[in-house]
Amino acid sequence: MSLAQPESIEDIKARNKALIKEVLEVYPEKTAKRRAKHLNTFEDGKPDCGVKSNIKSIPGVMTIRGCAYAGSKGVVWGPIKDMIHISHGPVGCGQYSWASRRNYYIGTTGIDTFVTMQFTSDFQEKDIVFGGDKKLAKLIDEIQELFPLNKGISVQSECPIGLIGDDIEAVSKAKTKEYNGHTIVPVRCEGFRGVSQSLGHHLANDAIRDWVFDKMEGKPALFEATPYDVAIIGDYNIGGDAWSSRILLEEMGLRVVAQWSGDGTIAELEATPRAKLNVLHCYRSMNYISRHMEEKYGVPWVEYNFFGPSKIEESLRKIASHFDDKIKEGAERVIAKYRPLMDAVIAKYRPRLEGKKVMLFVGGLRPRHVIGAYEDLGMEIVGTGYEFGHNDDYQRTTHYVKDGTLIYDDVTGYEFEKFVEKIQPDLVGSGIKEKYVFQKMGVPFRQMHSWDYSGPYHGYDGFAIFARDMDMAINSPVWKFAKAPWAA
Ligand code: SF4
Repeated sequence: MSLAQPESIEDIKARNKALIKEVLEVYPEKTAKRRAKHLNTFEDGKPDCGVKSNIKSIPGVMTIRGCAYAGSKGVVWGPIKDMIHISHGPVGCGQYSWASRRNYYIGTTGIDTFVTMQFTSDFQEKDIVFGGDKKLAKLIDEIQELFPLNKGISVQSECPIGLIGDDIEAVSKAKTKEYNGHTIVPVRCEGFRGVSQSLGHHLANDAIRDWVFDKMEGKPALFEATPYDVAIIGDYNIGGDAWSSRILLEEMGLRVVAQWSGDGTIAELEATPRAKLNVLHCYRSMNYISRHMEEKYGVPWVEYNFFGPSKIEESLRKIASHFDDKIKEGAERVIAKYRPLMDAVIAKYRPRLEGKKVMLFVGGLRPRHVIGAYEDLGMEIVGTGYEFGHNDDYQRTTHYVKDGTLIYDDVTGYEFEKFVEKIQPDLVGSGIKEKYVFQKMGVPFRQMHSWDYSGPYHGYDGFAIFARDMDMAINSPVWKFAKAPWAA
């Protein structure tokens, strides 16, 4: 099944160029011209990856992207556990996105936490024709009666809400007043807005600014501050990621006052403008609110990467550099404590994974952030791309990828299959929609949005699981029974 593999960087670049030309040839001329801007090979020394991004997908191609509603409800708001998040509109959007992200949380579901429950206004034809504001008001009343311990409600707009012009802001304001200032947040994240889920993240951030922070102004502080208070921003606690990150920050002497938003609460959001530093993992989905907190409340923010020991060490030192010697020493202590454990993980798995080639296609930060973890295991990233990245993501990616890496923005189903068929990586890391296509092609696969029902992958604890999972995917004996279609 093996095709001749290129060896030198120049060979790789020439192969990538030919491959891009080949995939574009099947498109009509105009489509080929538009898609050509999203495909390239990374050249060392360039300021970005040489692709256009955050542009509308072309009708007719199979894009992997989601919608703005998915970005707001599924990513930013959904994990806030003590609030109830209404999927406002027809039942399908909420039902089909229900509980798919595995945001772990503690609490008693249905009593004081609600993450895995599905609330919808279940729009019918008459709601579209006559408007759904009355129904929303009734739904909020029912929630207040049935779930009295909820600490807030968000209204996640699906497409029809914007199309029929419902006034969810007026309903939210009236109900907030009726329920003595209860937090009710309307979010204008209708799926048709923007080009991908990315605008939904931005709109969700703006809703926190306007409907959570502004409401807190003039109110007494929620906690007594210390010089070491930090908030984890942009960690959704997939498979427990935020927990395995939080313990490292605490071990080095910091106090984590909030988690955004995995296993987080509305009180944590409200308290965050008093943190000394915001530590930001997913830049794409939460840079907006981090910038706002810096501008309005003077809270600085720093990006970090907790995938794999090399990046964790770098990040712990970077975070510590914002504090005094006590925290800097704490970071060194944490690094020294875990290094033997990480050395043991690498000694076990590196011989089984050394030299294996990986192609990635994921969302906000993973197309670059996981690269270090693979490299710690001796693996090589030969292609990567973002579903909904912007140019600043591709600029940040230059610090991670090697000369000659194939870059594909908003890759289409056809292009991705073709690239994998021709490059023949040892592993593909992407989403659930891609998983079975590649497995049927006989290519080992890991679902890198939800960690394939595993995790955590963040932090030192996470790296041990990450290494085991990659070994399990690549070295499973099952692959000798699978035959790639091109080998048939
Ligand atoms: S695009 Fe509109 S209809 Fe489709 S899932 Fe998103 S909100 Fe629902």
